[in-house]
Amino acid sequence: MTLTPPLVVTIGEILVEIMAVEPGHGFREPTPLIGPFPSGAPAIFIDQMARFGHPCGIVGCVGNDDFGRLNLDRLRADGVDVSAIRVHPEAVTGSAFVRYRPDGGRDFVFNIKQSANGAVTLDAPATALLGRAGHLHVMGSSLFSPEIIAANEAAIGRIKADGGTVSFDPNVRKEMMALPGTREALERVLAQADLFLPSGPELFLFTSAQDEAGAVAELLARGLRAIVVKRSAEGATCFTQTGVVSIAGLPSEEIDPTGAGDCFGATFVACWLQGMEPRAALRLANAAGALAVRKKGPMEGASTRTEIESLLAGQAQ
Ligand code: ATP
Ligand code: MG
Repeated sequence: MTLTPPLVVTIGEILVEIMAVEPGHGFREPTPLIGPFPSGAPAIFIDQMARFGHPCGIVGCVGNDDFGRLNLDRLRADGVDVSAIRVHPEAVTGSAFVRYRPDGGRDFVFNIKQSANGAVTLDAPATALLGRAGHLHVMGSSLFSPEIIAANEAAIGRIKADGGTVSFDPNVRKEMMALPGTREALERVLAQADLFLPSGPELFLFTSAQDEAGAVAELLARGLRAIVVKRSAEGATCFTQTGVVSIAGLPSEEIDPTGAGDCFGATFVACWLQGMEPRAALRLANAAGALAVRKKGPMEGASTRTEIESLLAGQAQ
């Protein structure tokens, strides 16, 4: 008997990223730019899921403009179900201008909350998509308004009531944690999650223990089935009730780290839903993360299963 892999859905921001060509500090003088690139953490996640060959869709909202069409075209072409991406008649598509600092830090000018992304709701197409879903992925970066928090929580309730599963990547900026209600919302999402995908110190966002073993024990005791800690160039570790598996990062020239966590996460979640053991899932996810950093542009480094497997085949020789 072959099991049909469950449809994966995520809800959240879809935007374009426009990057400064030269490193520097912010945007207070004219500087050459490159873009627009399709972007948004949940959009990158779901694009990687589709390229990997796993059935998936996204609930989102774009403007009736070229930035929106750029995203719709890319997601559709890569195999994402775009039936629940609303085209807003007035609001514009979200955007982020990004400039790398010489020390590797980043300065941003965001238009997300005030863009079409602020109008995401569980309308009829979204409800229909969620009705077919067996897994929901929640991105912390998407929980920027009470309405979107409510939409995600309603979706979690639906998915769980139907016996589905939830993954959660906190992916949260410090400034967002300070917004009233955000921490509590993230805690409620974590309480419902089966799979938790923090990066580095995000492991300790919700624990009283501040050492890794203590934090992992606390989180597993709350009912998580797996915790996967992403460690950038160092690789990643998966903790479950039955053991710990770590993997070293694949040596990579880091052209653009944005999106690595999302590509890693999507690949891990797809493998986990397909019944793979943590070691095998980590191996593929780690390779997807490595491929992501090697390309300029947040979504440009998403990769197919064939590309991931040929990278690993090359490593084994
Ligand atoms: P982001 O939110 O910026 O997309 P993140 O902090 O969630 O990223 P990272 O830990 O930076 O996630 O990257 C995810 C995974 O991608 C890592 O666990 C690793 O497997 C791979 N990876 C990231 N950076 C590198 C690198 N420089 N070299 C090799 N692999 C990398
Ligand atoms: Mg991240």
